Amino acid sequence: MCPPRRLAASLGALLLVAAEASAPAAALEPAPGPAGCRPEDLVVVLDVGHTPEQSGSASATGRREYDLNLALAETIAREAVAAGFTATQVMKTTGSGRSQLESRSRRAAEMGGGLFLSIHHDAVQDRYLKTWFANGAARRYSDLFAGHSLFVSELGARPAESFGFAMRLGDRLRAIGMRPTRHHNEPIPGENRPFLDEARGIHRYDELIVLKTAAMPAVLFEAGVIVNRAEERRIVRPEFRRCVARAVAAALADWCPGDKPPEPLACRMPTPDGGALTEPPDSDSGETE
Ligand SMILES: [Zn+2]
Repeated sequence: MCPPRRLAASLGALLLVAAEASAPAAALEPAPGPAGCRPEDLVVVLDVGHTPEQSGSASATGRREYDLNLALAETIAREAVAAGFTATQVMKTTGSGRSQLESRSRRAAEMGGGLFLSIHHDAVQDRYLKTWFANGAARRYSDLFAGHSLFVSELGARPAESFGFAMRLGDRLRAIGMRPTRHHNEPIPGENRPFLDEARGIHRYDELIVLKTAAMPAVLFEAGVIVNRAEERRIVRPEFRRCVARAVAAALADWCPGDKPPEPLACRMPTPDGGALTEPPDSDSGETE
């Protein structure tokens, strides 16, 4: 907001700002994990997205996002501990509204959190949803979009390290055959999130409360689009959770390797109907498809 007499000057300033904002030098550069990081000392806080009272999106067959987030966070915790990140914590939250969101980064700091990873499953804008009947009720679905997304806020305390961890995680997700959805980049209301790294599915989303209030490196992970019927069938399989969890654990080891190099990743990402993908894991890391 600005008074009218200052409008002309402000417009001039805005044009300058716009010119500067488009310059490549303004881009966020990823930074490595903490120097001397030891896996057993890194408190990884796995934030379970949403609450039992406000459970987030509903899947194509009516599953609650919160339940899927909790199941995946607990599997990630097991794999992280097995990989040497023995201080990993699953953080559950109850209640509703903005206060439960704002409490998350404070509690993560109180836990001594060195990395904050918020676990979610994704939906799409209402304009894409259709209706079908599943589990005895009318449900909303869209099969248009599938894949994961990662979000980083440049307003958080540690954006460069956050981006660095998102890069490592994006690489490991690609290596198990996951591909990013691009629907959050669509220029429509509610989306329009610019890519920081398109091949890895990393977006900038400054206003996400759990990220912008975090005192530690912080990333939000959407593990897949649960309003997509085929994607939901894959997401609910234990093999999916285990494979994604191993990818997260491997990304932690890339970011905080300690004394030993990260273990090679071994898992087979399931197809929606239970078979394993036949393609060999994709180990290249910066190619846009
Ligand atoms: Zn969510």
